[in-house]
Amino acid sequence: MEPGSPSSPSAGRTGQNDGPSSHELGSLLTAAGVASVWMEPDGTVVDANDAFVSVTRYDRSELLGTAFSTLVGDDCPAIESLIADDATRKVSTTLPIRTGAETSRSVEIHLERFETENGSARIVGLVNRRATPTESASSSEFTYGRTFQALADALADGIIVLDTNSDIQYANPAVERILGYPPDELVGSSKVTIIPPRLRQTHLDALQRYLETGERKINWTYVELPGQHEAGHEVPLGVSLNEFWYDDDRYFVGLFRDISPRKEAERTLTAKVAQLESIAYLGRHALETRDTDALLENATELIAAALDIECCAIYDSETGGTDDAFQVRSRVGCDDATLETEIQRSSADSLPEATLAAREPIAVESFETDTRVPGSTGVTDHGLTSGVGVPIGPTTDSPGVLAVYSAGEREFADHDIDFLESAATILATAIERQAYERRLNDTVAELEVSNERLEQFAYAASHDLQEPLRMVSSYLQLIESRYADDLDADGEEFIEFAVDGAERMRDMIDGLLEYSRVDSKGAPLEPVDLDVVLEDVLTDLQVMIDQSDAEITAASLPEVQGDAGQLRQVFQNLLSNAIEYSGDGQPRVHIDAERTGSMWRLSVHDEGIGIDAEETSQIFQVFQRLHSRTEHDGTGIGLALCQRIVERHGGEIWVDSQPGAGSTFSFTLQPAETPQRNHCV
Ligand code: ADP
Repeated sequence: MEPGSPSSPSAGRTGQNDGPSSHELGSLLTAAGVASVWMEPDGTVVDANDAFVSVTRYDRSELLGTAFSTLVGDDCPAIESLIADDATRKVSTTLPIRTGAETSRSVEIHLERFETENGSARIVGLVNRRATPTESASSSEFTYGRTFQALADALADGIIVLDTNSDIQYANPAVERILGYPPDELVGSSKVTIIPPRLRQTHLDALQRYLETGERKINWTYVELPGQHEAGHEVPLGVSLNEFWYDDDRYFVGLFRDISPRKEAERTLTAKVAQLESIAYLGRHALETRDTDALLENATELIAAALDIECCAIYDSETGGTDDAFQVRSRVGCDDATLETEIQRSSADSLPEATLAAREPIAVESFETDTRVPGSTGVTDHGLTSGVGVPIGPTTDSPGVLAVYSAGEREFADHDIDFLESAATILATAIERQAYERRLNDTVAELEVSNERLEQFAYAASHDLQEPLRMVSSYLQLIESRYADDLDADGEEFIEFAVDGAERMRDMIDGLLEYSRVDSKGAPLEPVDLDVVLEDVLTDLQVMIDQSDAEITAASLPEVQGDAGQLRQVFQNLLSNAIEYSGDGQPRVHIDAERTGSMWRLSVHDEGIGIDAEETSQIFQVFQRLHSRTEHDGTGIGLALCQRIVERHGGEIWVDSQPGAGSTFSFTLQPAETPQRNHCV
């Protein structure tokens, strides 16, 4: 049966005729997907099948008795005028139907007038439920009323609806704001238009797979995908997807948002984190390493990576081979040929030269057009277009420039410049330290040479003086023995003074000789038991101790790293001084040892005459004495020798004293090194 021209239509419900009743016909038409309505010639609805009820969304009871004109739009012609008389028995047209859901739906309807068996006229309306392609593209087919339309229009997020062929059926106005395409242009086109070409096939394959197997490889709730802007660039999108069925067809709806600002913020954050980590690493490395060249090399690599840049170079303005050129101390990503024009200082301003002159960072977006750096156009021949120069070190006297170069025109962000300045500060400290260490090493070397020369001189002088002195002493003794009878009392006294002077001079020369040989003639340092050393010293001083009735007490002494012979001299000088300068009472001396940190502190305490605070430092100088020889015998070299020996052992010596309250001479020594155990059996 042809739905448009029922051969035996009947509005009767008697079932007397042999054709199907309108009710039966209605069921058949419903099964065929055709919505049908029967009307009086004036358009009053007398019957409607389930399909028509479903299309119009009224209850059947609401439809019956209703004028067809109330179901269609106000602008539509009355049904009597569509099928006026026998001449126009049928017509096919598109009418907007007001549905029971208070929305309007455009339908294609076929109206036909026929006579029933009892001779009365009827009009049947047959509605094609399926939307035509043209209709499917119209937004009204896909909206759920004015609310949706208003929402979709106002929404900042883009909405597109597409069918299973990936053809776009609907796009809201935000789509144009986000991707540049006017919705009118998009509707009817393929969705792949808004997908970057590189991802189109993947999308089509995924859609096909989903339609066939239901398998989803992306999260429909939220997924980040790039969109293709009408202008050609990509736009990062946050997308939510869903699907729905309409009239037995499946559609997909996508809600998407431009996440460029968030992506940009994420990129900035990631860049900042990478830059901060680089600074932290560089700072630590600068503190740990003594190898400045390795540090600079490492720095250029780190900086280039953190800025994702093609070339990074560190120029030295001070140690260049000639006055006319910067020296490239380190570079990465570019060769000498690229930097050739940059290092020439005589030519027009290059980036490093301009940076030094400006005394502040210079960011150049294009070397070709920036008038501050006309000399840097050379690097453009090597594909470098933009860059930044930052002075290394104090702005008034920078030893160099840190420069980065990019292949594309790049607008450097503030945090990029901050990062470069922080890196330059670290490098400046390292370069400055290297220069300082170089100066220090030079000074130490000079001092060592001069010290050696002095030692040689002192040794030569004292050694060579011994010979004539011996001669003076010998001849004085000769005169004394041979001409003693011829000398009067004055003569004898003069000879005595001369002999005494010669002996004193010999003692001083011996002391000086010993002093000059502390370093050169000292034995290697090895573990020394100070208890044994002290015992030997006390034996040597036994006569002095007995004569002065001195009371010497000592704590248990440690093993130290030292030259036993020299340490014996130290104890001997300090103990003999403690007895010598004990004053009128019985000398009481105590030797003590205490561990202080990594060193042993030894002390020799007496209860003697003490020393004025102002004189405590001068007594350690060669030949410096606080008393005349008539008061106390001595050469004034003992404490100077002690100091030299202690310093050779890596320690210090000092005195704490008050006049009349005794003195404590303290010195530090390193503990004995534990010998390595041999584990071999
Ligand atoms: P010397 O004892 O041969 O004069 P030193 O270098 O040993 O030379 O001592 C330098 C000076 O330090 C001594 O002349 C003395 O004035 C002072 N001095 C050294 N030890 C003591 C001490 N224990 N108490 C007071 N004064 C001291």
